[in-house]
Amino acid sequence: MIDPRIEIALLNEGIRQNSTIELIASENYTSQAVMALCGSILTNKYAEGLPGKRYYNGCVKVDEIENIALEYATWLFDYAYANVQPHSGANANLAVFTAFFNPTNTVVGMDLASGGHLSHGAKVNVSGSWFISQNYGVNEQGLIDYDAVAQLVLDTRPKLVIAGASANSQIIDWDKFREIADSVGALLLADVAHYSRQKLGGEYPSPFPYANVVTTTTHKGLRGPRGGLILWNDQEFSKQLNSSVFPGTQGGPLMHIIAGKAQCFYEALQPEFKDYAKQIRVNADTMAKVFIDAGVYIVSGGTKCHMFTVDVRKESMSGREYADRLEAQGITVNKNGVPGETRSFAETSGLRIGVAAETTRGHDAAWFEELATRMVQILKV
Ligand code: PLP
Repeated sequence: MIDPRIEIALLNEGIRQNSTIELIASENYTSQAVMALCGSILTNKYAEGLPGKRYYNGCVKVDEIENIALEYATWLFDYAYANVQPHSGANANLAVFTAFFNPTNTVVGMDLASGGHLSHGAKVNVSGSWFISQNYGVNEQGLIDYDAVAQLVLDTRPKLVIAGASANSQIIDWDKFREIADSVGALLLADVAHYSRQKLGGEYPSPFPYANVVTTTTHKGLRGPRGGLILWNDQEFSKQLNSSVFPGTQGGPLMHIIAGKAQCFYEALQPEFKDYAKQIRVNADTMAKVFIDAGVYIVSGGTKCHMFTVDVRKESMSGREYADRLEAQGITVNKNGVPGETRSFAETSGLRIGVAAETTRGHDAAWFEELATRMVQILKV
């Protein structure tokens, strides 16, 4: 029997999810199959190590499952090798850091306030407190200034350059980042948690063959379980990356979640997933256009992916106030900093909007246009 307190909270969360509009750019709705696997008997099994090389007995069947996940991940992303064990995107990034670097090494990533992720060298995260981190930002238009990144890299001579962000709606020039990393012989990590072309209808360029290592989450556009993934092509990296995940930074893998990942890769390999990803692009463009036509500034002027950030500095409320008003109307979003932010992280002057979750629910451009019109009205009251 489920503890009644937990059951009631779960039921209420179900009601919340079913009765609100979900626009948080990093969230999505998994399939019933993914959820069934994540709640399956596989949660009972310990399987430290890799398929065929486990520290426990009884792993023949979970080896099969992990091998399927590995096979699908490499097909889907066109990389030769993968590790499907990271418990989260941040864990995947930490494993890359600890595989190749030590605290005397410098890493360069996008700063948090400009749309980077905590695990890209933010001081409050191990990536920025244990390693020497240098951050690049975006210009006033919200675009990456590649010349400034190149200069920072030349000045600080990092061992690692990270390309990727949590809130940047433009196409990241992987080729340019490769050139910049090569200028000092640094490794290039592409964190495509938000930007894999599989999630964006093939329109977004692949970091292959530019990045040495790619990390991603599996729960955003991929619609899988919460988790991380690492991909690479150079066989010489395999030992370091695999042992950096286990035993370096994690214990036993979550075999139920790995089964859920295998299922989400399988789903993403189906032709329908391409239609979903294409619809995401149409819906994001449609929504952004409504804001732009109403005179509301979108950071970087538009979107080339599934998300965009509304800049409310000209409006009468902060990002937090706008997010709270939308929540009161059944629309869930997250407040977000904007380039040149003057308000605190708790208040902010922006709002990040993503369309992946509601596109999963089958909504089309007309629905998103109506929704954005409503959101503009709420902003303008
Ligand atoms: N990398 C990027 C670019 C992200 O946006 C996120 C999360 O939003 C992560 C990594 C971390 O993922 P997780 O929350 O699974 O640790």
